[in-house]
Amino acid sequence: MDQNSADDTPRVIERSLDPDNWDEFRALGHRAFDDMVDYLQTIRDRPVWQALPESAQSLFAMPLPVYGSGPATVYDRVRDDILPYPTGNIHPRFWSWVGGTGTATQLIADMVISTMNSAGLGFDEVASTHVELQLLGWLKEMLGYPAGASGLLVSGGSMANLVGMAVARNQMAVTDVRKHGVCNSGEPKPRFYASSETHSSVRKAVELLGLGNDSLHTIPVCDDFTIDTAALRDAINADRHQGYRPACIVANVGTVNTGAIDPLPALADIASSERLWLHADAAFGAFARLSPRYQTLVEGLERADSLAFDLHKWLYVQYDCGCVLVRDSDAHRNAFSVLPSYLRSLDRGLASGPLNFSEYGVQLSRSFKALRAWMGLKSEGVQRYAEQIEQNIRQASYLTGLVMQHPDLELLSPTSLNIVNFRYAAAGLNAEALNELNAEILMILQERGIAAPSSTLLNGRFSLRVAICNHRSRREDFDLLVGSVVEIARELCGTDSSR
Ligand SMILES: *Cc1c(COP(=O)(O)O)cnc(C)c1O
Repeated sequence: MDQNSADDTPRVIERSLDPDNWDEFRALGHRAFDDMVDYLQTIRDRPVWQALPESAQSLFAMPLPVYGSGPATVYDRVRDDILPYPTGNIHPRFWSWVGGTGTATQLIADMVISTMNSAGLGFDEVASTHVELQLLGWLKEMLGYPAGASGLLVSGGSMANLVGMAVARNQMAVTDVRKHGVCNSGEPKPRFYASSETHSSVRKAVELLGLGNDSLHTIPVCDDFTIDTAALRDAINADRHQGYRPACIVANVGTVNTGAIDPLPALADIASSERLWLHADAAFGAFARLSPRYQTLVEGLERADSLAFDLHKWLYVQYDCGCVLVRDSDAHRNAFSVLPSYLRSLDRGLASGPLNFSEYGVQLSRSFKALRAWMGLKSEGVQRYAEQIEQNIRQASYLTGLVMQHPDLELLSPTSLNIVNFRYAAAGLNAEALNELNAEILMILQERGIAAPSSTLLNGRFSLRVAICNHRSRREDFDLLVGSVVEIARELCGTDSSR
């Protein structure tokens, strides 16, 4: 007999995805949090990198789960087969690419972010909107950027460059790019200028903006890897004569290869006399501004029309978090604003928030990532961050000293900020053999879990590249790095390491 026949209303079974047993979930959560804190606290005792073992690999070969096995069982696999294999940037001897470390406080932020699960719209009159606006205000203050500028938190430097350069493209166009697009015949083609050391995301942005990478005029660098401003002036003049329309200079405030800082005041002067937009890619270099000792290095940053930087690099914020600031907030909004009726704000109630973040960038729904940086800054204070950044700069010069003192090591770029490039330069090896030797040294350093520099090519030389945005590194870590490089090199060259 049908269950429902006893009474006429059918019994509707409704469920949610909430735990069946909240007490069990709470216990699991406490256990998981304890595991995370233990893991972070003992990070120094672990290898900086290790390859995934078979047990972990097998996890990733498993089929789509049709029926769940419950959070406790899943968590055990995560703890055993995922947690031990991170990129490693939380480790004190990780110096690859430009990896930031993150801080413990933000673990708590992550729980709050997930619990609230706010949509980050801005026109929602909720706490996340005000946290983000307050954070943007603090960032402007920290970087000496005008308080009236608009800003947006984005996924990272790549997206920040795209947003800033989109504003540049539109502002510098002759016709309405949003209406007509970029390919109007007869119009002079726009030109963007950036040095040969510029990050790949700038080229990507030019391509995504429909300009074609022919429009990115690459300017050579000087010996210190900063842009050759005389060559830049010549290029702008030559382009004008050939019927192009110079539109934007992209300044590097800390190049990814060597940390070189383009001469910002000179670039700002050129931009203003040539009436060009100045966009600064300050992905990590921006925060040198926090240090009274080193802020002169990034003088002129405040003159950029748009500024892209990462919080997940040298502000030690967990991934992912970048920011774009634009001096002319109307220009910023004009590049992105589309307001259909369903996104309009109202005078009162939930939709009465102060602004619509979607008018300033690509995304509509966004995570409440602002809370991580906000909690970090509130917990530590900006003074502590300034000290950590200074510590990293001093560590870079300490490592530079170790390299220069060692007869078998060679510095491959001047250390201007927090990036050191060097190699083992054994006598009697040709250029190609030296490159192979140093690549081998790097891979062994990583495979043995000792340290994780990354690599680059500088003037054709394979470089061990050490980028220091790591608040856990200590001088002894750089001693160990140098000692290990030399030891591995001698093993590889067959010379006695005990000499
Ligand atoms: C890291 C970096 C970028 C890209 O930033 P993401 O956050 O990785 O997207 C751009 N420019 C420079 C100089 C960088 O160091």
